[in-house]
Amino acid sequence: MNVLVVYSHPNPKSFNHAVLETITAGLKEAGHAVKVHDLYAEPFKATLDGTDFGQIMGGTTPPDIQKEQDLVSWAEGLVFIYPVWWFGLPAALKGWIDRVLLQGFAFAITPEGLKGLLKHKKALVVNTTGGPEDSYDAGKAKEIYIRPMTDGTLRFCGIPDVQHKTFFAVPSVPPEVRETMLAEARQLGKAF
Ligand code: FAD
Repeated sequence: MNVLVVYSHPNPKSFNHAVLETITAGLKEAGHAVKVHDLYAEPFKATLDGTDFGQIMGGTTPPDIQKEQDLVSWAEGLVFIYPVWWFGLPAALKGWIDRVLLQGFAFAITPEGLKGLLKHKKALVVNTTGGPEDSYDAGKAKEIYIRPMTDGTLRFCGIPDVQHKTFFAVPSVPPEVRETMLAEARQLGKAF
């Protein structure tokens, strides 16, 4: 498959970057063609603003959005890698979604209701957290950050097979646990 990896972390020495490298390696080992969009290394305007609205309402897609939509259309599979920030997405990625997954491209409003337009076979969302898994379970808090992306965005836009993986408490677990996480990330890429 052609696989687009959308990656959102500002630090090239972060654990998320190591996850990016290992998943990408796994995807390539599995024979996929991979393109990575690193939203901090290649910044993309993250605010859907009045200028955008004016152009879009006038029937013109801003050129930087068109370029991203072409990239999304190239892909048959999508992978998203990012840390959980404030129980959600980093603003750079949220803005990418706001501006790229536009009505008419990613979804349509029809007389029968909302219809997803993305034709990707599958998607994978990989998150890291600061908090440990038991605190998320105790607070029934996993849904808060998982479902806006898996259900509210990707399944909503028509992608039937959406997998999700969280690596919990990455700053505080022992180094050997992080190594196990990276081995798991490689397998996620290989199995995609
Ligand atoms: P890093 O801090 O980069 O790294 C973690 C550890 O991994 C470090 O010890 C590092 O040395 C080590 N490491 C780096 N590279 C490698 C490698 N190649 N191999 C092995 N080890 C390596 N957390 C929550 O749970 N919920 C929240 O709502 C939340 N909100 C946040 C909001 C903001 C604005 C911020 C900045 C953080 C928030 N956090 C939250 C914490 C955040 O989710 C975690 O800090 C983040 O997920 C950790 O991932 P990282 O890539 O930044 O880790």
